[in-house]
Amino acid sequence: MALKIITSDCTVCGTCEFDCPNSAIRMKSETYVIDPAKCTECVGFFDSPNCVAGCPADCIVPA
Ligand code: SF4
Ligand code: SF4
Repeated sequence: MALKIITSDCTVCGTCEFDCPNSAIRMKSETYVIDPAKCTECVGFFDSPNCVAGCPADCIVPA
């Protein structure tokens, strides 16, 4: 289970990097990417994906 960022819609605001409890989101080549090996969809931390809740561009979706 993992999510992905639609990079064409991402404003590179950086919010999601700090919202992720697993440090799964990092800047890479001037955009943000989610490491599918680290993303657990926030199970055990939050009731729903925390990055989705905080993204102002609504550009984080199921992979
Ligand atoms: S769903 Fe949770 S674990 Fe996965 S990238 Fe978003 S904040 Fe991180
Ligand atoms: S919170 Fe959304 S718009 Fe901001 S960097 Fe993350 S994916 Fe991009």
